[in-house]
Amino acid sequence: ESQLNPNYNFENFLEGDSNRLARNAGIAVANKPGGTSFNPLLIFGGVGLGKTHLAHAIGIDIKDKYPEKTVLYISAEKFTQQYIDSVKKNNRNDFIHFYQIIDVLIIDDVQFLSGKTGTQDVFFHIFNHLHQNGKQVILTSDKAPVDMQDIEQRLLSRFKWGLSAELQSPDFETRVSILKNKLYRDGVEMPEDIIEYVAKHIKTNVRELEGAIISLIAQSSFNKKEITINLAKEIVEKFVKNTKREVSIDYIQKVVSDYFQMDVSTLQSKTRKRHIVQARQLAMFFAKKYTKASLASIGSQIGKRDHATVLHACKTVDNLSSTDKQFRKYVEDLAKKLAL
Ligand code: ADP
Ligand code: MG
Repeated sequence: ESQLNPNYNFENFLEGDSNRLARNAGIAVANKPGGTSFNPLLIFGGVGLGKTHLAHAIGIDIKDKYPEKTVLYISAEKFTQQYIDSVKKNNRNDFIHFYQIIDVLIIDDVQFLSGKTGTQDVFFHIFNHLHQNGKQVILTSDKAPVDMQDIEQRLLSRFKWGLSAELQSPDFETRVSILKNKLYRDGVEMPEDIIEYVAKHIKTNVRELEGAIISLIAQSSFNKKEITINLAKEIVEKFVKNTKREVSIDYIQKVVSDYFQMDVSTLQSKTRKRHIVQARQLAMFFAKKYTKASLASIGSQIGKRDHATVLHACKTVDNLSSTDKQFRKYVEDLAKKLAL
């Protein structure tokens, strides 16, 4: 109901210099939701640094301490979708009312609201209502408020009312503790020098750190290989290589459809409406540019088109971006969104 994941609790969220401020602010908020000056509490930082985990931990702790409070965790993406649906079904007011009676509202990845003026508008009203009534709002974002683009000024200024706390990349000691904690919870033993080897080489992202250790465990148990430094080296190398990861065609279609505020199925449809055709052509163009897929494969994945259609799309995008200023802006915006 509250959408909280019990595994993402404070106990499992290891403290280090990189997250001390955010973690402690989270604990303070959980002790007195709505009753601190950290309202909203905005947690920001790069991919895989623990924003979602920490957001859940705060919610879970509040639920523990104040079982009567309604706590809701939702991604900004889902929030947007719900809002769009409510408009379609003519019950925008019910949507607003639902959110206005929550005690603790946690919205993950608010950068997703960028450019979505309708959703921002409705969120602004919900936010004001909650804030005025002493309810707690917790937000996460991949950027600091000053760096957020295409978010209305009045909303940004609300974001800055409380505390913005950054999650940074954890230092070596914290990375080691995170790994040890994970191994301990999974009941797996691993030599110290191997843990340190992994922690030393995977630096920027906790999700990848965990991913490497999971592969290592899987390799050793399924392939009955002994966990040695050499095996760790092999896996870490693959990991570091794979993390310069290729974007998938699915992901490109999703980013492009979101940008133009349409469904992926609309983007793939047979319609010849100009803005939909353009979105489809942009998706094909970026699929060509950012993946190794063949023209035929791109075509078949983006609405079952043939390779000639994809080739034509790529040429059209090239042409339009040199002649049409608005179109060039689309290309630039999307390139930014797809940049890894
Ligand atoms: P984000 O939302 O910032 O992309 P997540 O919250 O999804 O990142 O975290 C990625 C993974 O790293 C999760 O499995 C999470 O449990 C783990 N993680 C991140 N920070 C910590 C930490 N300080 N201690 C333990 N695990 C962490
Ligand atoms: Mg997240």
